[in-house]
Amino acid sequence: MKPQVVFVLGGPGAGKGTQCAKIVENYSYTHLSAGDLLREERNRQGSESGQLIDRYIKEGKIVPVEITINLLKTAMEETMKKDENKFRFLIDGFPRNEDNLQGWIKVMDGKADVKFILFFDCSTEVCINRCLERGKSSGRTDDNKESLEKRIQTYLQSTRPIIEQYEKQGKVRTIDASCSVSEVFTDVKSVFDREG
Ligand code: ADP
Ligand code: AMP
Repeated sequence: MKPQVVFVLGGPGAGKGTQCAKIVENYSYTHLSAGDLLREERNRQGSESGQLIDRYIKEGKIVPVEITINLLKTAMEETMKKDENKFRFLIDGFPRNEDNLQGWIKVMDGKADVKFILFFDCSTEVCINRCLERGKSSGRTDDNKESLEKRIQTYLQSTRPIIEQYEKQGKVRTIDASCSVSEVFTDVKSVFDREG
């Protein structure tokens, strides 16, 4: 079975991870977060990319696609090897820029189907406040004001144009992410009940 993929996009702190966890509880999807995979790789003993990833994350910059795509591809393959029924994936935080998108097309075109893009739409102000709040306990090196300013810039300059490209193809399902977790999930559910 070819992997069936939903890309999950939105600003930093829009609630992608929170909603993906709820989707996994209710639908047969595996959640793969590009950010989580990169942080794991950064922390892995002996990783050749660890230092580079660390630098990019602190700067809020987008890590070169060769690294990210390999982590995603391996994670999908390992999941499907363990259980062939697990072929539905939420890929959270990807593709974040044109380089990501081209990398996906080069490596995965024809090997996976992108069903739609789940876009969590949220103001910059709400995104920043949520990340600062999360920063009190997350231990993340990028949930601080300086990194956040850069992450927001990266999102506006590099990720939004990708969402717009997919929008023109009719592939984007936009969710208002500014309300409560359960209200947002009600909207998410209606998308998944409709599209599977
Ligand atoms: P992302 O994965 O998009 O960076 P998270 O899911 O980690 O975002 O959410 C960022 C922070 O905001 C977390 O601390 C989370 O608990 C909180 N959060 C997520 N969704 C909501 C919401 N709808 N309302 C209020 N806080 C939220
Ligand atoms: P996130 O956990 O999604 O907020 O991502 C945290 C950081 O990881 C980002 O600011 C980037 O530095 C890096 N990152 C996450 N996703 C990607 C991606 N698709 N491509 C490159 N870098 C990424």
